[in-house]
Amino acid sequence: MDPTQISHLALDIGGTLIKLVYFSANGDYSEESRNGCSVVKGRLCFAKFETRKIDDCLEFIRFNILHHSGVQQPNGEGHDKLYVKATGGGAFKFADLFKEKLGILFDKEDEMCSLVGGVNFLLKTVPREAFTYLDGQKKFVEIDHNDLYPYLLVNIGSGVSMIKVDGDGKYERISGTSLGGGTFLGLGKLLTKCKSFDELLELSHHGNNRVIDMLVGDIYGGTDYSKIGLSSTAIASSFGKAISDGKELEDYQPEDVARSLLRMISNNIGQIAYLNALRFGLKRIFFGGFFIRGLEYTMDTISVAVHFWSRGEAKAMFLRHEGFLGALGAFTSYND
Ligand code: ADP
Repeated sequence: MDPTQISHLALDIGGTLIKLVYFSANGDYSEESRNGCSVVKGRLCFAKFETRKIDDCLEFIRFNILHHSGVQQPNGEGHDKLYVKATGGGAFKFADLFKEKLGILFDKEDEMCSLVGGVNFLLKTVPREAFTYLDGQKKFVEIDHNDLYPYLLVNIGSGVSMIKVDGDGKYERISGTSLGGGTFLGLGKLLTKCKSFDELLELSHHGNNRVIDMLVGDIYGGTDYSKIGLSSTAIASSFGKAISDGKELEDYQPEDVARSLLRMISNNIGQIAYLNALRFGLKRIFFGGFFIRGLEYTMDTISVAVHFWSRGEAKAMFLRHEGFLGALGAFTSYND
């Protein structure tokens, strides 16, 4: 290891968000820190920035991390180099920018390896990390370290990766879908004219998906299709009512559009996840990525999808540090 490695900072630069994990000796210098959890003589801090606003991230690192750490930035030939662990596609895309603006070089960590490393670290060392969410109830799950593998990791970022994890550093990306958090945000912005993810979530909170989704009951005249186990309230076709309602987009409330969209994306991911769990006989599915954001409606939809399709056999679980899995994995790799 290079002696000038900044061993207390790791970055995960994704398509939508940049995630930072850093160690603060006093833990009180960051307004941006999120979900900080106490460790010996300091704090592990978490921060995120939109990738399109990467300059804010550079400034944050310059003023809050480099200055406070007392690390001198290299400023020319012959100086020691500063390395930080970095993962995600942006570790490649923005390497030159970080070098030019901060004098930092990236010690690149593989994205999937970091994701898996982050989840294994959390499940083995952080109490009350994993939980289920069903029928409005959040229940923490005790994970037996000796009985952790195999499991399915579903990371819902801009896109979705599904990874079968068999042990430390033993994993395979078995599936994925391009209909992920980026689709929700991108389509949501186009359809509702909202400006941010938070605004879109807030809208979805107040909407009713039944206004736009075509339900089994809409097709069957209000009754269930009980012969094949479909209740009248099951969604037969997401956004299907728009075919025959005779309405334009402006005639729908943006709240209802946002709600249908969130339901459609979450349902689809839950179903694909379950099918992949079935393919490999996996009973436990952990969902992570910043799309989830601890949102009850999202977690409930995913849980119901997994429960429904598996007839209660498989379990959807969520992680408290859902958005920082890759960054945490890169952070813990300083010990490798
Ligand atoms: P990536 O590494 O691909 O950027 P993330 O795990 O960071 O993936 O998740 C990105 C997704 O999280 C976005 O596509 C969006 O759906 C959601 N998201 C949550 N919070 C925000 C936010 N503040 N700004 C933008 N997207 C957000």
